[in-house]
Amino acid sequence: LERQLARLRSLPAESRDGELIVLQANLELPRDVEGALTAGAEGVGLLRTEFLFMNRDTLPDEDEQYAVLRGIVEGLEGRPVTIRTLDVGGDKISTALGGKIGVSPNPALGLRGIRLSLAETKLFETQIAAILRAGAHGPVRFLLPLISSVEQIRQSRKVIQKVVRRLKRKGVRIADPVPPLGAMIEVPAAALMADGLAREVDYFAIGTNDLTSYALAIDRSDDAVAGLYNPLHPAVLRLIQFTVQAGHRAGIPVSICGEIAGDPRYAPLLVGLGVRDLSMSSHSIPRVKQRVRAIDTGAATRRALAIMDQGDEGRISALLDDFNDSL
Ligand code: PEP
Ligand code: MG
Repeated sequence: LERQLARLRSLPAESRDGELIVLQANLELPRDVEGALTAGAEGVGLLRTEFLFMNRDTLPDEDEQYAVLRGIVEGLEGRPVTIRTLDVGGDKISTALGGKIGVSPNPALGLRGIRLSLAETKLFETQIAAILRAGAHGPVRFLLPLISSVEQIRQSRKVIQKVVRRLKRKGVRIADPVPPLGAMIEVPAAALMADGLAREVDYFAIGTNDLTSYALAIDRSDDAVAGLYNPLHPAVLRLIQFTVQAGHRAGIPVSICGEIAGDPRYAPLLVGLGVRDLSMSSHSIPRVKQRVRAIDTGAATRRALAIMDQGDEGRISALLDDFNDSL
């Protein structure tokens, strides 16, 4: 089996009817780069930059962040690296930010993700500068976490433009042109207004982990309710479907980077819903690729339509498993 998976590395993630699916890696640490390349990742669909801020008492300065990000960008040897700006708060606590987060009565609904960045402009500008400089060494994309409004994107763009001007004035080498800007779609409000957001960004990355939690009002780490957490809930699937359609109508790429992207079971449904970009833990890439290669996109689309007609999770699950069994 291991040999079979190794062989997959050199094969394209192509459906039976010839549709190419882009499979990228989610990275949490610089040392994950090697695993991503070994697994055959076509790029990084999600770099979680939280590691730069964890387990320390001081904030990393621009040079330190630049050095680490540059290492990752160079390690990917020309493949695109999607760098998400800081997403602490909620379940992600940074000691370096001690006083600024963790004081919220409900961290998941508090100063998290882009909200923290827009409130702490210095912190945000420093990270933007490091990303722009790393982008001089290979293709990068900005990704903003926990977006819930058009205004947050406009404000972020202003910050990026300001930092670009400052660095250019100082003669610092940065990405040219300015890298694409994307929004995580992981708050139900963002999914429901994906058509409006699509006019403001260059791409979407759907974060199904948080999207499921927020849509169903479930904290997955709470044992008392974890059993109710289900990305196959029809409400979650509708949010995903609407986002994919809105993105494609606007002509921007839409990727999925939550846990379901790395579970082969979901691949036929996501492909059937029109998704052509998946980002996952590196170790999941071979198995998802294997499943993708077994899919006929026409059949997957018909099955996805049947699934979207269902109102109950059990029936959805059964229709999906039945389709997977037929592959
Ligand atoms: C998500 O919410 O699905 C996601 C990819 O982001 P994270 O798991 O880092 O919150
Ligand atoms: Mg998330």
